[in-house]
Amino acid sequence: MQAMSLNFDPNGLTLPFGHLIDGERVAAGGAEIPVARPSDGREVGRIHAADADLVDRAVQAAHRAFRTSGWAEADPLERAAVLKRWADLIDARRIEIARIEAATTTRPVEDLVNRDLVRAAGALRYFAEWADKVEGSLLATAAGRTSMVKPEPWGVIASIAPFNFPAINAIWKSAPALAVGNAVVLKPSEMTPCSAVVMAELALEAGLPRGLFNVIQGAGATGSALVRHPLVSKITFTGSSATGARVMADAAETGTKPVTLELGGKSPQLVLKDVRNLDAVALNVANGFLANAGQVCTAGTRLIVPETLHDDLLERVISIANGRRAGPTWQTGNTMPPIISEKQAQRIDAMLAETVSDGAEVMAGGGRDPSQNAGAYYRPTILRGVPEHSIGFRGEFFGPVLSVYTYADEEEGIAMANHPLYGLAASVYTDDAGKALSLPSRIDAGTVWVNAHGRQPDFATPQGGFKGSGFGKEMGRAGLESFLRFKTVWLQHG
Ligand code: NAD
Repeated sequence: MQAMSLNFDPNGLTLPFGHLIDGERVAAGGAEIPVARPSDGREVGRIHAADADLVDRAVQAAHRAFRTSGWAEADPLERAAVLKRWADLIDARRIEIARIEAATTTRPVEDLVNRDLVRAAGALRYFAEWADKVEGSLLATAAGRTSMVKPEPWGVIASIAPFNFPAINAIWKSAPALAVGNAVVLKPSEMTPCSAVVMAELALEAGLPRGLFNVIQGAGATGSALVRHPLVSKITFTGSSATGARVMADAAETGTKPVTLELGGKSPQLVLKDVRNLDAVALNVANGFLANAGQVCTAGTRLIVPETLHDDLLERVISIANGRRAGPTWQTGNTMPPIISEKQAQRIDAMLAETVSDGAEVMAGGGRDPSQNAGAYYRPTILRGVPEHSIGFRGEFFGPVLSVYTYADEEEGIAMANHPLYGLAASVYTDDAGKALSLPSRIDAGTVWVNAHGRQPDFATPQGGFKGSGFGKEMGRAGLESFLRFKTVWLQHG
């Protein structure tokens, strides 16, 4: 696809801001929440947050569809066919969806067309293929008894998504659930409400019975009401660790509902002394903390490097980072997207100031990008000497900020890689095959990449964190099974 042809004028778009309940757009709701376009800060519309009544309407619709649409009882191949048609529709409307998403999020239009929406459609096809491969078991028992374990859907799934990859999240947090027969009520982030509605409408067009995939808009109060609803059977949440803890508390107080929590991280990039190609390592390190301007849960925000390689590696990383071009998501060629909102950028400013006053030193960047006079763009920022008690060590900047640590001895480097609070992901760079195989087992993280940092377009590998980064998996077989419950059936017949 020609890169230049993807440029567009964001002012000419019609954006969907409503809810989608029982197959219909619903404009009603409670408090108005303005939605700003991150690239220039301009308000582009308002959502009306779903209040308790509207949340109830959406959950009731999902429950009714789960009970009466025949979706859960259908031949799994029929469900698979709908999911595949849905993927085809995403492919066919890729440019249109990419424009809506680029105009309302931090995702650049060319990345959307070439990556995010390809991954969204790919995930649908992946889970469609799983629909008829779900298995239970028949257990060995004494004669006269038959005992089996049967997988079945939970019922109504509450899906709550963050702002950083809204179109992908709309699919990841619904497709596996639907593939195995559940109904879904999805609440996207109040900052990025539009693409989920588009995705749910495409599902209807593909033949998904109405009511099976509902989208409600709103912020924390809406999310909390959804989690607390008595007809919700399971919750899948992606977002910050602090919000994840509140979701867990709400779920515990209202029926001890199961939750899957995909939370935040402070993922390390650990470089070993033996690496030979510093250029390749530097490129991975830079991409690892700069992708989506650092607004990635698995961003590699802590570089742990041998003292002997520090200067050579940092020189390369800084040079790559300085080559990034900030600019709006609707113009191709921009490689540094905006921070999601002015409020988030101010939060990064405040965290940075506090970290520096705690003793950290700014080696590069350190604030807003002055080349942009609208939107909240951040310069790639590199810190050293971030103390362990500081907010810059304990919290996520969720911006393009890398903290650098040096070590003399490898054991010290491994100890630094293991963060006391988080365990989402990590990368290790080494040319030693033995260490490549043995080191990951010493890193306390749900995903360890060797000689790479970041998720590849691969749907079979599960993702999910340890410790404060959450629990449960998304994607892969484990991600599918999190939307199934396993029932034991015991027959006495002899
Ligand atoms: P957030 O926690 O502020 O919000 C996430 C979602 O939760 C939003 O839809 C929000 O409206 C909703 N919410 C807020 N309060 C709620 C409540 N009390 N009950 C229910 N829902 C509530 O996160 P964010 O700023 O949108 O996203 C960034 C965070 O998400 C980062 O911490 C990042 O690391 C994390 N994240 C994790 C993964 C992962 O797979 N582990 C992926 C992407 C993002």
